[in-house]
Amino acid sequence: MSPRPLLNRRMDGMGTTIFAEMSALAAATGAINLGQGFPDTDGPESVREAAVRALRDGRGNQYPPGPGVPELRTAIADHQARRYGLSLDPDTEVLVTAGATEAIAAALLALVEPGDEVIALEPYYDSYAASIALAGGVRVPVTLRPADGRFRLDLDELRAAVTPRTRLLLINTPHNPTGTVLSRAELAEIAALAVERDLLVLTDEVYEHLVFPDADGGHLPLAAFPGMRERTLTISSAGKTFSFTGWKVGWITGAPALVTAVRTVKQYLTYVSAGPFQYAVAEALALPDDYFDGLRADLLAKRDLLADGLAEAGFTVYRPAGTYFVTTDVRPLGESDGLAFCRSLPERAGVVAVPNAVFYDDRAAGAPFVRFAFCKRVEVLTEAIGRLKGLAS
Ligand SMILES: *Cc1c(COP(=O)(O)O)cnc(C)c1O
Repeated sequence: MSPRPLLNRRMDGMGTTIFAEMSALAAATGAINLGQGFPDTDGPESVREAAVRALRDGRGNQYPPGPGVPELRTAIADHQARRYGLSLDPDTEVLVTAGATEAIAAALLALVEPGDEVIALEPYYDSYAASIALAGGVRVPVTLRPADGRFRLDLDELRAAVTPRTRLLLINTPHNPTGTVLSRAELAEIAALAVERDLLVLTDEVYEHLVFPDADGGHLPLAAFPGMRERTLTISSAGKTFSFTGWKVGWITGAPALVTAVRTVKQYLTYVSAGPFQYAVAEALALPDDYFDGLRADLLAKRDLLADGLAEAGFTVYRPAGTYFVTTDVRPLGESDGLAFCRSLPERAGVVAVPNAVFYDDRAAGAPFVRFAFCKRVEVLTEAIGRLKGLAS
């Protein structure tokens, strides 16, 4: 008799994340790591100082309130009102979490019964698959496919994926890893479908402040579309917006009954986290528009630098309308397997990237695509481009 596996079967195939493998490879080879999406410079000095002040003044050093400190919940509600005209009650419609990652896990564990289907855009952020599996849900991917220089959602395919067992649509815009920003028309159709089929919607908008001018109208929160307020949970985080990915301050907002369900689970995961940082993020959310405009302009310039360099190196480039990432196709380089390509790239060129195939159930559909992060210093990107130039020869 073979011994029972230690790890529960819901986690089959989720042993280590690709980021762990590729970051280890970067460390072992001294390659430039454009794999994982974290900035290599920290966020605003004033926000760091706010965290230090909170620590020194004894704010948040003991368990903060379960839903998050009132200052941060109010700042989140003010941000949603000022940016998007969404009005939220900070006491009943805002919950602070240990990053967006905990919000995703807690929401899926709260809302999904074993056997429920969860529709997710494919390629998908890796924690979605794990959290759906841990909740006992069935992942139903709808694949974004390249057309006209971007990865597109096929709305007919999305509609066809809905069954009587569908519990929830898991949407991500701006989308990691493809950089697609769903258009107003696409979001309106998703909203109409959710209303028609009475579905819950979980929308991951952690890149809300990284929408480039190519996307008409900037970031549009799904919760603002007709009929969506009562069925939508919106997730965001300080990590990407303020370049503090290590602080793990995230939040989830929505109608009171939905947020209460999520809080019920969340209180047994971390209960609370990041006390002093919550005060600092409250100040960060109130920064003037200059900060947000500056962040976007900085990343836009870096996007263009890396996208142009990759095109010159021979990749087909899907120039992203948002996020930290540019997805490429390696086939013009005579390659077809992105995973093998990424495993050999540190040796061949001294650069680490991530194979998009790991974000697909349909691995063949994702095989030729490789993702590079551009949230790095200009000199780092320039050096990486220089190294990649030799690939085509
Ligand atoms: C980075 C990222 C997250 C995780 O955010 P944290 O706040 O660090 O937990 C969630 N979703 C997407 C799409 C991301 O890229």
